Amino acid sequence: MKLGWTPQQRALSHHYEQLARSAVAPRSAAHAATRQLDRLSWRELANQGFWRIPVPESRGGDGGTWWDFCAALEGIVRGSRDLGFCLSLIAHAGLLRAVVRHGDETQQHHLDRLMVGAVGATALTEERGGSDVARVSTTAHPVDGGHRLVGVKVHITNAPAADLIYVLGRVSGLPAKQDVTVFLVDRHQPGVRTGAAEEMLGNTSSPTGAISFDGVHLDPADILGVPGDGLSLTYDTITLDRLLYGVVGAAYLEGLLDDTLRFARGRTAFRQPITEFQYVQRRLTNMKLAIETTRWISYAALDRLLAEHPDAALMSSAAKLTGSESLAAAALDAMQVFGHAGYEEGDVSRAVRDSLGTLIAGGTSDIQRKNIFTQMIKKPVAVVPNRPVLAPLRAA
Ligand SMILES: Cc1cc2nc3c(=O)[nH]c(=O)nc-3n(C[C@H](O)[C@H](O)[C@H](O)COP(=O)(O)OP(=O)(O)OC[C@H]3O[C@@H](n4cnc5c(N)ncnc54)[C@H](O)[C@@H]3O)c2cc1C
Repeated sequence: MKLGWTPQQRALSHHYEQLARSAVAPRSAAHAATRQLDRLSWRELANQGFWRIPVPESRGGDGGTWWDFCAALEGIVRGSRDLGFCLSLIAHAGLLRAVVRHGDETQQHHLDRLMVGAVGATALTEERGGSDVARVSTTAHPVDGGHRLVGVKVHITNAPAADLIYVLGRVSGLPAKQDVTVFLVDRHQPGVRTGAAEEMLGNTSSPTGAISFDGVHLDPADILGVPGDGLSLTYDTITLDRLLYGVVGAAYLEGLLDDTLRFARGRTAFRQPITEFQYVQRRLTNMKLAIETTRWISYAALDRLLAEHPDAALMSSAAKLTGSESLAAAALDAMQVFGHAGYEEGDVSRAVRDSLGTLIAGGTSDIQRKNIFTQMIKKPVAVVPNRPVLAPLRAA
């Protein structure tokens, strides 16, 4: 077992950190204010080969690993300090991996576009709910030569900027529970409309919005995997997304902790630096623990996912739950340490707002907990010979 980046991965991380620091960070506040995706930086990342990293050479990529991708992603998080922009990257990464894993040669053109700067979106949620994805009502109706897709998705990351959309829907005419299917829909096709960026509490540099499909024509090649496979394919897709929330959250908190430590060292109260106060120390150590627990549980989840281990989904939900809850708590800790300076409009208050979105995006905390429990309870309990389920209490 090796727990550390290779020199090449460290160099990759450094490269993308520099790039994000010079490209994303200076424009981040402006994009958050106008609720727009930073397409210029998006293109720059694509030009530098960011999206080619985890794609096999046989599919036009660089043949790297998802570890290499995470090293680069962490660099972008550290350099950009823009959580919203990074949520947009996560949405695209899930789609990219889904097309690599489940797409065939007729869908290679989608992969090619995703690697060179097209923006991807993963559309599961509908107005009547995002937690119960199996109940989606977006439907593909069979017609000569394919299907016509009808439905509306809401709260979709990247929707206002998307070029390619992963749509979870159903195929009418197939038996119930065997009809849920994933479609790859080109945003620029007739009948696809995207709404304006929603007004949200945070993460506004990641435009999130509605997408409607008004009889959109789909060819058979627009189905990812096979009809009826949509749920298992989607669970596989969100397993990566969820653990990436942890990877991103830990890297994001590093910068916030640095800022908070710097501030605390320079701030005095009662004629002492506030770092002398144990309550402040507790907040700072909480932030550090949030980074370490989130980071390592997320790496463990990625390891499980890549090994196709049966615990991958459980670990990924654990990474998402730990990552988002400790990120939100740590952002509040930072705000307390900064006092009013953290409550004013600025980096710290933005961190609080942005971190709260991670409790909902990618599935709520309660849904992660539900998923963890469902996976746990599925496992057979080991039978130990001669050991009753409840060991009798021994007399003292
Ligand atoms: C910043 C952001 C980005 C997003 N991006 C995307 C995206 O790219 N694609 C996409 O498809 N969606 C996206 N969403 C939507 C998100 O996935 C949903 O909001 C989320 O899954 C919850 O769905 P809901 O809001 O409809 O709440 P509901 O599903 O209506 O749930 C309401 C409440 O009931 C609880 N609940 C529901 N079922 C259960 C249960 N069985 N057990 C216990 N509690 C339960 C939930 O935890 C929640 O507290 C995004 C959301 C945000 C905030």
